[in-house]
Amino acid sequence: KRRSKINTDTLVSSILNKDITALSRAITLVESKNPAHLEKANTIIKACLPHANKSIRIGITGVPGVGKSTFIETFGKHLTAKGKRIAVLAIDPSSSLTKGSILGDKTRMEDLVKDDNAFIRPSASGDSLGGVARKTRETIILCEAAGFDVIIIETVGVGQSETTVHSMVDFFLLLKLAGAGDELQGIKRGIIEMADAIAINKADGDNLKHAKLAKIEFNRALHLYPEKTSNWQPKVMVCSALKNEGIHAIWELILEYVTMTSKNNYFNEKRHEQNKFWLIQTIEEQLKSDFFNRSDIKKELENQLYLIETNQTTPFAAADYLLGLKTK
Ligand code: GDP
Repeated sequence: KRRSKINTDTLVSSILNKDITALSRAITLVESKNPAHLEKANTIIKACLPHANKSIRIGITGVPGVGKSTFIETFGKHLTAKGKRIAVLAIDPSSSLTKGSILGDKTRMEDLVKDDNAFIRPSASGDSLGGVARKTRETIILCEAAGFDVIIIETVGVGQSETTVHSMVDFFLLLKLAGAGDELQGIKRGIIEMADAIAINKADGDNLKHAKLAKIEFNRALHLYPEKTSNWQPKVMVCSALKNEGIHAIWELILEYVTMTSKNNYFNEKRHEQNKFWLIQTIEEQLKSDFFNRSDIKKELENQLYLIETNQTTPFAAADYLLGLKTK
């Protein structure tokens, strides 16, 4: 017991000293399913919390092929050149279901990986999006304690993961392509509504004029949405991640957002709201996993599923029964 205490203390002070190896080890603890690790992870998170909260958290989403990794690499290098330290985390909704990964091939962000002021951590493959999300939140705290100025959370524009990312960032950037309809891009209306900015990528070569037209279209579309509680009017930008054009303007826009929402206090209010949401969501996740991992529930669930299949009970009666089983 005593020894493990010393280890976590050492790990925490190393993290605070910006030691990347220690940071990686702590994230591995946070991601571990081993109950002994969970206890250590919680100790570390608690110790890191007072040192967290100081970064700008940016969510980036877009369908596969839109240029997310190219963008993050160019954007990231732009920031490290300014002396900023940036961490890139990914939430990959495919990892839990297919064990494959939409985001995770090894060749992504090759240059940024080599940058001493950048830290890139691929997503944890979890049993549920909620589980992955929880670990990502804790990883944000660890990265902030390790002094990263900008944290980028990347996800693919499919499924529920954008909502999850939106719930943990300050600024939500949607990457789009010109000339593809919304259905084609697989982007739902709700995602546009969440965006603080839309960047139309690949605005280079022959595509530039299409991108500029798309900018006008999106601007028009954005004005149809009700005003945000932040009072921020979402902006449409064009950029070329490949040619490093329009990237600086996007960073300036994000700074403008931070300045404005800090002044009207929305920035802090949003983080407080997110913290409350994290609490509720963490409890929900924990209850769910505790319940489904009970051996009596596992066994009885089989039975009840059979009874439903053979029309001997209803889903509601079965749920009632299972929820009523006393913990042994
Ligand atoms: P992701 O799946 O969203 O991460 O997309 P990638 O970053 O892997 O990019 C997909 C393809 O689009 C790659 O071949 C990139 O080189 C290309 N690409 C990305 N950004 C740009 C851009 O700004 N202009 C052009 N012309 N191609 C780009």
